Amino acid sequence: MRFDIVTLFPAIFDGYLTQSLLNKAIQRDLVEIHRHDLRDWSNDPKHHKIDDRPFGGGPGMLIQVQPTVECVEEVERACDVPARRILLTPQGRKLDQRLAEDLATSPRLLLMCGRYEGFDQRVMDILQPEEISVGDFVLNGGEVAAMIVVDAVVRLIPGVLGDEQSSFDDSFSRGNRMLEFPQYTRPREFRGHSVPQVLLDGDHQRIAAWRADASRTRTAERRRDLLEPTPDDDPQLP
Ligand code: SAM
Repeated sequence: MRFDIVTLFPAIFDGYLTQSLLNKAIQRDLVEIHRHDLRDWSNDPKHHKIDDRPFGGGPGMLIQVQPTVECVEEVERACDVPARRILLTPQGRKLDQRLAEDLATSPRLLLMCGRYEGFDQRVMDILQPEEISVGDFVLNGGEVAAMIVVDAVVRLIPGVLGDEQSSFDDSFSRGNRMLEFPQYTRPREFRGHSVPQVLLDGDHQRIAAWRADASRTRTAERRRDLLEPTPDDDPQLP
């Protein structure tokens, strides 16, 4: 899977790309990440300026339409694989596991990271990207949001995790759309807190039943909303 990231700060991704799971996925050619510095598409050869003040006044600066549209069009042409265009914005559809699973079926994602007060509206009008938010709060820039999207999607690409079952059972995931059950590792006992006996007995049917029950109880306690049926659960619903 290929990711193209359009950003004013490509270096923000340096450490992230060289760490752990993502780095291994890149080494194994499961994932390609290409960063594109928006300033390279500036019409201002001296200062590489890509922002300007908003018409009508108000605080802050906006990213201009010309460099953004030209950058995205050129980046897309650089590779035959069609890209799903995504623009990170607090005003977009909120990212959740279902959306991450859907994004993971695409061969190529192009992620546009905003800064300052965001993009000139004509960027959205012309490029018609999917607008995605990582939550109801405002970040300084889209780079951290893009990393969240990449991180959530990459672990769903077949072969990236050691055990595919793990992303199936995770909280919110295709396994049951609930919170995951509690997990334990050694030691069996610590400061009077013991591992539930059922997990030590080796009876896999009873373990599965205990986990399903624990998952439902935890979800009911913490996230009752996840137990409500959603339109996606029943294709007959409008
Ligand atoms: N003025 C914008 C607004 O009120 O909608 C917020 C601009 S924010 C300071 C700068 C950039 O950070 C945005 O263009 C976007 O790319 C990114 N950003 C901030 N919060 C985000 C969020 N919750 N999800 C995704 N991207 C976000």
